[in-house]
Amino acid sequence: MKSTILGYPRIGPNRELKQALEAYWNARIDRTELDRVGARLRSRTWQRLAELGLEALPAAFSEYDHVLDAAVMLDAVPERYRAAVDPYFAMARGEDGLPPLRMTKWFDTNYHYIVPEIGPDTKFRLVSEKPLREVREARALGHRVRPVLVGPVTLLLLAEGIAPLERLDDAVEVYAELLAALRAEGVEWVQLDEPALVADRTPAELEAARRAYDRLSGTADRPRILVAGYFGALGDAMPVLAATGIEAIAVDLIRGGPIDPGAMRGKTLVAGVVSGRDVWRTDLDDALHRLQPYENVVVSTSCSLLHVPYDLERETDLDPALRARLAFAEQKVAEVVELADRLARGERGAPAPLPTAPAATSRDERRSPYPVRAAAQARLGLPALPVTTIGSFPQTGDLRAARAALTAGRMRQQEYDDRIAAEIEHVIRVQERLGLDVLVHGEPERNDMVQYFAEHLDGFATTRHGWVQSYGSRCTRPPILHGNVRRSAPITVQWATYAQSLTDKPVKGMLTGPVTIVAWSFVRRDLPLRAVVEQVADAVSGEVRDLADAGIGIIQVDEPALRELMPLRRDEQQEYLDWAVQAYRTATAGAGDATQIHTHLCYSDASDVAGAIDGLDADVTTIESARSGGRVLAALGDFERGLGPGVYDIHSPRVPGVDEVAERLAGVLRALPGLPADRVWVNPDCGLKTRTYEEVEPALANLVAAATRLRVRL
Ligand code: GLN
Ligand code: ZN
Repeated sequence: MKSTILGYPRIGPNRELKQALEAYWNARIDRTELDRVGARLRSRTWQRLAELGLEALPAAFSEYDHVLDAAVMLDAVPERYRAAVDPYFAMARGEDGLPPLRMTKWFDTNYHYIVPEIGPDTKFRLVSEKPLREVREARALGHRVRPVLVGPVTLLLLAEGIAPLERLDDAVEVYAELLAALRAEGVEWVQLDEPALVADRTPAELEAARRAYDRLSGTADRPRILVAGYFGALGDAMPVLAATGIEAIAVDLIRGGPIDPGAMRGKTLVAGVVSGRDVWRTDLDDALHRLQPYENVVVSTSCSLLHVPYDLERETDLDPALRARLAFAEQKVAEVVELADRLARGERGAPAPLPTAPAATSRDERRSPYPVRAAAQARLGLPALPVTTIGSFPQTGDLRAARAALTAGRMRQQEYDDRIAAEIEHVIRVQERLGLDVLVHGEPERNDMVQYFAEHLDGFATTRHGWVQSYGSRCTRPPILHGNVRRSAPITVQWATYAQSLTDKPVKGMLTGPVTIVAWSFVRRDLPLRAVVEQVADAVSGEVRDLADAGIGIIQVDEPALRELMPLRRDEQQEYLDWAVQAYRTATAGAGDATQIHTHLCYSDASDVAGAIDGLDADVTTIESARSGGRVLAALGDFERGLGPGVYDIHSPRVPGVDEVAERLAGVLRALPGLPADRVWVNPDCGLKTRTYEEVEPALANLVAAATRLRVRL
């Protein structure tokens, strides 16, 4: 091997997999046709990588999620899914009456994986032919590929259940069996991804990793093993891996910094010098320079290219000066190939100059403490257990078509605006009819909660085809933050005041918080993240002030990604949380006492950020929790401000019944004995834009019915 990448986007350059998945779920195509689409995408990927000159090709496809693939490969399928029509997709998305497995963020990325459930009784067996099938498929096309699998340590560390890590030895036996089968199939290399090893690990966990890789590398007849540790430095896990019999280690030299060449103990270094986490061109001279200390090097990306769009060539609308600074997946593969060639020719490169840090800016805060604000907000006249939603309403095909027509110049702005106004009126009427207490305008004018703001702020560019997989069939198009961020005019005031003019009920203004805007964008590299977030916070703060001045009494500033930018290493986390929380407080500082600030967060395991959530000092916090049982409540149980743990899992098409919601709500009230019932909010887990009205209307009606039932008992 001279050049490789750790993985490639799999959703398809035109999101072919997304379309096929959705067609399959709606029974418009069958399993065979879905498989055919997957095969076409794999074939196209390998062919393209080979054309670009990449030597070692990964086989890193997944129909939905690579973590779920690994769990299913070991037959770690909880009993309740076995009778499902399609157990794989039932685990991923649920089926009638059967909720899906939990889903959460893949390390500090915006990719979400399905959390495997592994307990003392899970019987591991090698059942999946997937890696073998793909190897055969590639061979038939003339390619030798390296199967990429989530490694056993990461799989079990990410799983939930009773002490999953205790099951590592059993799981490793199945991996060993798979290695032997791959070898019999003629496979030369296999890649086991162990990003969990770049986070803090206990001595017992490191010992477990040592045992796992001693066992796997001791397998008699096996392919060579590449263990990939990305998203940071391997740290203490490095000597552990280096002492085992594996042949190669992939190291993230971008996020993890340089390593001691001696640490490799003669193993092959798969050197991640082309970033898989951003869209900037690599400074090839600098990368070459950083490769110099090492022997036995394979040039690679820092992680899978799953996190970047396919091809910059298609972005013909971008400013040429910006375009010249960018690289998407295809361009990054070309960089890897070029670096490998230049390295082979003995070129040494030269280090790039270090960026300079800007001065810190001063920070604003809200004036009064919560009790004073709560008293001032009594003017809103809300009932106990107020019912609200998180912001977006279903984005119908009709709305999307109107937006596409506007973008393509087939619809005039006025016509589009009329369409949006009609939609807002519809959303308001639906909520009035269903009896919600705090309404939203439904966000029909927003393609995406970050992209919309990026399109209205200076310093951002947006792409046309730059889709990146978020989970399953869902993709986002992260904007590119490339310059200084400024707000030149109000962004949301017009639609917010229009919505409020239609009803006597309060309508929440809806903004995206500074951390989330940055976390879901590709961010410039020449400024520290903190400085970038502070610039965005100043811009959001201006919008909060304008909304409040326009008479909007409740403003929600979403910060679902607060946790995403969190460093993986514990000793760096507090500093991050301090400045991230401060940025949020700056962003909301413009609200007077009587303006109620809401925030929304989307993760169900809040234990590690509970302090930070409190620190945001929002008057009301809505947070995902429907899939997670009591976890959120356990973490936030002594909260004194408004709290709305989600009681409707919007990631699933399932409509929860009144009894189910009422039970959940009763559980919430029991778990929050110190919180007066007017501070307990009733809401879905997240926005409704991915659902249909057929699902949403009955579900919200059930939320209102459940809240009404419980109010009577208070
Ligand atoms: N207000 C946004 C919406 O409802 C929040 C989405 C999110 O948390 N990801 O769509
Ligand atoms: Zn959310």
